[in-house]
Amino acid sequence: MGNDLGRVYIIGGGPGDPGLITVKGERAIKEADCILYDFLSSPELLEYAKASCEKICVGKADGLHLKEQDEINELLYKKAKIYKNVARLKGGDPFIFSRGYDEKKYLKERGIDVEVIPGITSAIAGPESFGIPLTIKNRISSVAVLTGKKKDPNAAIEAPSCGTLVYLMAVANIANVLTALRKSGRNEDTPCAFIERATSADTRIVRGTIGSIESDAEKAKVSPPAVFVVGEVVNYGD
Ligand code: SAH
Repeated sequence: MGNDLGRVYIIGGGPGDPGLITVKGERAIKEADCILYDFLSSPELLEYAKASCEKICVGKADGLHLKEQDEINELLYKKAKIYKNVARLKGGDPFIFSRGYDEKKYLKERGIDVEVIPGITSAIAGPESFGIPLTIKNRISSVAVLTGKKKDPNAAIEAPSCGTLVYLMAVANIANVLTALRKSGRNEDTPCAFIERATSADTRIVRGTIGSIESDAEKAKVSPPAVFVVGEVVNYGD
C-alpha cells in the first residue's frame, strides 16, 4: 500500500523473567522509537530501548488503569503517525487475556501495519516453572486457559470438562471459581495450586485441594499476579 505511517509491534514480554522474551520481541524493543508498556513483570526489558526512545507507561494492572483502553488505542495510533517503529509491550502473551487483539483491530482499521510477536504466557510458564506439566502423554490430554474474573460479577465462571484448568485473574474471585469447579463435579480432593509472580525472583507456589485452597491462600496471603492451576498435574510438580 505504501504510506508514511509507522508500524506497530504488539509484543509479548513474557511472564516475568526478562530472559523469557523472544529474540524477535527483543529486536523490536531495540528498534522502537516509542514504547507503550503496561506494568510489566519484567521492567528490565525497557533497558533494551534506544536512548531516544519515548517510553510511555499506560499501566494496566489489576484495579489500576492509568489509561482506559480507548485512550491507549488512540495513543498508539497517534504515535504510529509520528514514528516509524512503535512497540506495544505487554506481559505474557499479547492475545491471552490481554487487549492485544483490540489494539491490532483498531490500528489495522486505520491503515497501520501491525505485527504481533507472541510471548510466553503466565498460564504456561507459571505451572511449568514449578515443574508442573500441563499435559502428560497418555494421561492428561487437554488443558484450558480461563478467566477467574468476569466483567459482570454475577456471570458464571467456566469450568469445562478438561484434564487441566488454568485460571488467570482468580485471586480475588477464588470463591466463585471453586463454586464453578464443584458444580462441574470435581471432588474436594482435586489438587490445585496458586503460583504467584511466576518466574520472578520472589515467586511462590501455594498448593492445596479444592476443599482447602481458599483458606490455604488466605493464610499464605496470596496476592496477584498469580495463576491458579487445577488438576492431577499439580501432583507431578517438583
Ligand atoms: N497476557 C498475560 C495475562 C494478562 S491477564 C499472559 O499471557 O500471561 C493478568 C493475569 O495474568 C494476572 O491476574 C495473573 O493471573 C496472570 N499473570 C500475569 N503475569 C503473571 C505472573 N508473573 N505470575 C503469575 N500470574 C501472572
